[in-house]
Amino acid sequence: MKSYNNYLMDMDGVLVRGRTIIPGAQEFIDGLNARSIGYLVLTNNPIYTPRDLAHRLQTLGMQVPEDRIFTSSIATARFLKKQLPEGKAFVIGESGLTDAIHGVGYIMTDHNPDYVVLGETHGYNYAQITKAIRLISAGARFVATNPDPSGPSESGLEPACGAMAALIEKATGVAPFFVGKPNPYMMRSALNFLGAHSEETVMVGDRMDTDIVGAVSSGLDTILVLTGVTKREHIAAYPYQPTYICESIGDVELPEVKEKKRPANATVARREEKKSNEE
Ligand SMILES: [Mg+2]
Repeated sequence: MKSYNNYLMDMDGVLVRGRTIIPGAQEFIDGLNARSIGYLVLTNNPIYTPRDLAHRLQTLGMQVPEDRIFTSSIATARFLKKQLPEGKAFVIGESGLTDAIHGVGYIMTDHNPDYVVLGETHGYNYAQITKAIRLISAGARFVATNPDPSGPSESGLEPACGAMAALIEKATGVAPFFVGKPNPYMMRSALNFLGAHSEETVMVGDRMDTDIVGAVSSGLDTILVLTGVTKREHIAAYPYQPTYICESIGDVELPEVKEKKRPANATVARREEKKSNEE
């Protein structure tokens, strides 16, 4: 397996499955930290802030620093800032989205906003959705964090951003711009966040139709792990193929730990050698 300078990886189905850590996941993260390799954990889930997600992982027993977590809400906020700095948005979502949008200098208002931004919330209400529909009909641009129609929760399936976006689209005739995976924008945005180049970065994911297609479209190499959604027998039918296939994150090979550099100055090197011989 080729050595990469940077790793992007999906969270659910790659590092964790529900509330269970996938064997080898923590060792993989530890390996990246030990080698000072750049990495980001990518999730389409727009509800939580990186700090909340780091904490949720911690309660499962996994240590991932919050600055290594990159959500569709963060990508959405970065998209808005790039498109129209210091704009105004009407936002439906939880703190993961509202924090990110405030963080890029946006004002949240229902008065003449530039954008209607839809994320996910456990508290959708009719008045809010009606407001969004009227604002879009009046000309506000429609952006949504992620196209997932539904998502897993501890108590079963839940409607996700894609399903609620469909309701608004049906009422307005306006389709949203979805920022999250499989939009390659999510990967490009993560690369920019890391200051990384696509040629030296690999994406690890469990879904051909989101992680792998988004990464392939961004010019990244890909590693498909079989601990999540895509099963081995389904891979061949896709027109795009992963660069590598691994049973799990535990089988992904990391570059060898680089040897400690010898001092550039030969005299210093000899002196150190002498010293270590004496010890
Ligand atoms: Mg996944």
